[in-house]
Amino acid sequence: MNNRAISERDLAVVWHPCTQMKDHEWLPLIPIKSGQGVWLEDFDGRRYLDAVSSWWVNLFGHANPDISQAVKRQIDTLEHVILGGFTHLPAVELAEQLVAITPQGLDKCFYADNGSSAVEIALKMSFHYWRNCGQPQKTKFITLENSYHGETLGALAVGDVALYKDTYAPLLMEVITVPGPDCFHRDTGESWEAYSLRRFEHMRQTLEQHADSVCAVIVEPLVQCAGTMRMYHPVYLARLREACDRYGVHLIADEIAVGFGRTGTLFACEQAGISPDFMCLSKGLTGGYLPLSAVLTSDRVYQAFYDDYQNLSAFLHSHSYTGNALACSAALATLNIFQTHDVLGRNRQLAAAMARAVERFAEHPNVGEVRQTGMIVAIELVRDKAARLPFPWQQRRGLGVYRHALQRGVLLRPLGNVIYFMPPYVISEQEIELMAEAAWEGIRIAVQD
Ligand code: PMP
Repeated sequence: MNNRAISERDLAVVWHPCTQMKDHEWLPLIPIKSGQGVWLEDFDGRRYLDAVSSWWVNLFGHANPDISQAVKRQIDTLEHVILGGFTHLPAVELAEQLVAITPQGLDKCFYADNGSSAVEIALKMSFHYWRNCGQPQKTKFITLENSYHGETLGALAVGDVALYKDTYAPLLMEVITVPGPDCFHRDTGESWEAYSLRRFEHMRQTLEQHADSVCAVIVEPLVQCAGTMRMYHPVYLARLREACDRYGVHLIADEIAVGFGRTGTLFACEQAGISPDFMCLSKGLTGGYLPLSAVLTSDRVYQAFYDDYQNLSAFLHSHSYTGNALACSAALATLNIFQTHDVLGRNRQLAAAMARAVERFAEHPNVGEVRQTGMIVAIELVRDKAARLPFPWQQRRGLGVYRHALQRGVLLRPLGNVIYFMPPYVISEQEIELMAEAAWEGIRIAVQD
């Protein structure tokens, strides 16, 4: 079996996510045979450094022995059981641990099986909470410009990435979209903090004006990942928490991409010293092994649903695979790695190594910005550095970087014209160098006319 044979079979029957399938007439699909640590190996024996953690899910490497062992142990005991009316130990232990490690005031854990579903749950729970509390006029959500929360219709509605959203606009609920704190747009010499504070004024005004009809504000704390890794200062979250309290609106923190150490702290909200009313978790939760998500919320929210059945105030949302036992066991093994290793300490060293590896990028005539938050580094390609003008999206410069990096044995998956690194935490400093070198050369080639 080789790459070609498998690709042919694949393209005859598989419809891939987030892909214009016609591209594969000239862009080879890459069938992966195995993974080990940060490395993936295809059927022709070529290796690729997974610099994007396989869509940001993998934390401790592919085929991680500890996580694999935990799943193997679980699989012979109990693979899955209905979570309505029944429970199992991995689901209980994982909820206990998530309640313990998330910011204070998050006391209950509702499971689902992917990030978008977690977002749907948080939105529905918030709306339903206000309804149960005698405030049915609260039906709207506030979201930030350039945000991303998933692809199902509710999650898509509260997102703001035109590429994914615009086509489906007629199907989506109306939301209130507020100019965001994306620090790429700050003035020359203006600090992230000053810009984030300045931009918060839009949010404050919107809350003041619409609080009566608004259930919740939903944000991606610190980094808008799918919105091309745009970043902002924690002060924005601190102000947002205060304002949500003042105006009686929930705060939903979508930490699906940024949770579990990605931004330097275990959860991004910690950097602002805040607790949201709902925290959505997924992706790294299982170390990248199995689909699982969780929505953490407060006892206060939980109590608003806790009533006699006849009053019909229960949260009746469910998914077949809610709280799957194998996924929970992978998550427990992942959390155990955080408990037994100084992951955040090592990540600080790795983040510093990534900063060093991209130092020279800022001088490149087609690099408009190099930005970093913890284990996320992003490089913004521009056509005109002084005016910070982007390359026309139709030119697909990022795709050029992707293709070149693959030849160098590095899997980068640029978001438009933004090249980024979001590697598993088991990457070495040498591998960081390799990743940066592949990006550097890729950029050099891709920006040529
Ligand atoms: N929220 C954020 C912040 C995300 O980055 C993503 C996935 N990229 C999602 C939600 C959706 O998660 P999933 O792809 O598992 O549905």
